[in-house]
Amino acid sequence: MAPEHSKVDVLIVGAGPAGLMAATWMAQCGINTRIIDKRGTKIFSGQADGLQCRTLEIFDSFGFADRVWKESNHMLEICLWNPDEDGRIRRSDRIPDTIPGISRFQQVVLHQGRIERFFLDFLKENSDIRVERGVLPETFKFDEFLAEDHEAYPIEVTLQHLSEEELNPDQSQMTKGAAKSDGLFRSNMAADDTDELLDRASKNGRAGTRETLKAKYMIGCDGAHSWTRRQLGYQLEGEQTDFIWWDIRIISGDSANLSKFRGVLDIIPITDFPDIRMRCAIHSANSGSVMVIPRENKLVRLYIQMTTTEKGGGKPLKVDRSNITPQMILECAQKTIAPYKLTYNYCDWWTAYQIGQRICPSFSANERIFLAGDAVHTHSPKAGQGMNVSMQDTYNLGWKIASVLKGTAHRSILKTYQSERHRIAQDLIDFDHKFSRLFSGRPAKDVMDEAGISMSEFKSAFEKGNLFASGVAVDYGASILVAKEGNPQDGANGTNIGISASSVHGKPEVAKNIKMGMRFPSFQVLNQADARPWQFQERLKSDGRWRLILFAGNISNPPQMTRITNLCANLSPIIKRYTPAAQPIDSRIEILTLHSAPRASTELFSFPELLRPLSDEGWDYWKIFVDDESYHEGHGRAYEGYGADAERGCLVVVRPDGYVGWEGEIEDIEDIGRYFEGFMVVQR
Ligand code: FAD
Repeated sequence: MAPEHSKVDVLIVGAGPAGLMAATWMAQCGINTRIIDKRGTKIFSGQADGLQCRTLEIFDSFGFADRVWKESNHMLEICLWNPDEDGRIRRSDRIPDTIPGISRFQQVVLHQGRIERFFLDFLKENSDIRVERGVLPETFKFDEFLAEDHEAYPIEVTLQHLSEEELNPDQSQMTKGAAKSDGLFRSNMAADDTDELLDRASKNGRAGTRETLKAKYMIGCDGAHSWTRRQLGYQLEGEQTDFIWWDIRIISGDSANLSKFRGVLDIIPITDFPDIRMRCAIHSANSGSVMVIPRENKLVRLYIQMTTTEKGGGKPLKVDRSNITPQMILECAQKTIAPYKLTYNYCDWWTAYQIGQRICPSFSANERIFLAGDAVHTHSPKAGQGMNVSMQDTYNLGWKIASVLKGTAHRSILKTYQSERHRIAQDLIDFDHKFSRLFSGRPAKDVMDEAGISMSEFKSAFEKGNLFASGVAVDYGASILVAKEGNPQDGANGTNIGISASSVHGKPEVAKNIKMGMRFPSFQVLNQADARPWQFQERLKSDGRWRLILFAGNISNPPQMTRITNLCANLSPIIKRYTPAAQPIDSRIEILTLHSAPRASTELFSFPELLRPLSDEGWDYWKIFVDDESYHEGHGRAYEGYGADAERGCLVVVRPDGYVGWEGEIEDIEDIGRYFEGFMVVQR
């Protein structure tokens, strides 16, 4: 059959969490996009489950966090279990699962399949973008000489459309005795089947069509075995080979030789262990460790360090993947949790994986082809970070590609994907390395036992890790998009890969708790027009717009109101410069105002029109807010929370992804102009 030819602005390869987040941005920004996946269906159970507070904030900015919040299991406490002097496990500590006050959300768990469902529903409701399943790329060409040509389609791939039989992997052939819910076929212990699928398709006379597709941009979100990464000739660097299942050694609990092999069970447990509905880290004296993650629908996930009963110099048992069964994983858990009893009648899903941390030094080729998620970083799933960090990769990237395609920003912003996300990936790898070591190690018998892991060290790592694991600690470095002091770096080896710094530096002192490079935090504020309380972050939707947050201060003081009026007069031409004449004044840069004067003695119409623009539908009542007492939900004390001066106020620029780009005084209008000049395309 003659190949079809088509063109697309963005091609996304892989519809896991990273690919779906990328597609969601494209849908939101109206970008011509195709997303393909070699699998016939999305996943239905198992795999990732933990969602960080930051991820929930992001979901909320797209409008579907409430669905996750309702269906998920909320994790509030972590219990640490360790052996006592007699070697019997006992609860030694409790700590909050999410550090109180860092976000309006707390960490929750819900399986990956549901999360993918929410994305798919969003795409259906908001765009024509649909995941094309059973489609995988076969050949790849990239003309790098066209990379800087805005109109060019420098990427060409042929797509193979698989037939029904080819696109559903037969798990039973892959794992002897596997339950239908086993995740071994997608575990890092399984070989990649992309070549095999292509080979089968090429030999199948009934196989679907082949298509040649030209794309302006391509995002490889195709997982740990990434085909896209292979086409670019990039390698993951780090500890582990792709799959070494034939040489996994399960050994007894000698800390020097502890196996890096882990089992995962999603079960409805039958147990007398008292903390089974808490997140627990259980370290036994000699029988490994178990992490307990209470899940939705009565389920509990157990991450289990695999050990055998062989002791005292017993030979390591050599197993291959076909030897692994849920029963074998359960027996290891039973040993760790003894003398408590543990069994189950229902297993929803199980898998086994091997710990290893790897990262790709480069996340893009010529800022035309990008890699994201597991395609560029892999690590152990136990810290619950993989899915979160993968989605946040494309959350960082999606709006940048969309802005360039829409002609609102220069291509130079695309370099910040590497500089911002590579460092996060490296931090994640380091965190995971430390966390896995602490979790795998044998507990120290006493202070003299240097080979063992001290439980106070473990607790403190857990507490510190909680901040990292929440996702809110992400702090992007200096660049054209983040106007803070410092040299732009790519993070791979501390060098600059050609990222420009902003020609201005913001003034962090104007709002002590708003940090350039970090996400804009949230406090309760009231709408001036109708007195309704909002979390301020709820007003920062992920819709591709920049936000100027005007902390207007105490506008009941006439000189302060004069400052605001002057600001608006000077700001208006800057905003117009970047807004097409035919479009509303807030379509590229939206101003949200927060003042600190008493609500009841302030009138909406006393503010300059720029802050409450008029359209065919009347005045916009949803842009001016006040830091005041609400009728039913107390006082948000937002100025105090943000660390801003309640009399003088200040100005903050927030990027389309909610990260702070610049902050300064109300008079620093020229600086704002120069900040936007660094990357925005003039529209008139
Ligand atoms: P993936 O989710 O791997 O998605 C990649 C997608 O690309 C897949 O849909 C695949 O079918 C598709 N694809 C691959 N190759 C091609 C191709 N050539 N053409 C077209 N499509 C292709 N993380 C946690 O946070 N907690 C956990 O408990 C956890 N458990 C895990 C258990 C297992 C067995 C595995 C494999 C991972 C687990 N993870 C866990 C990690 C988490 O699932 C990943 O970090 C996350 O899914 C990464 O998202 P991604 O979109 O980058 O890649």
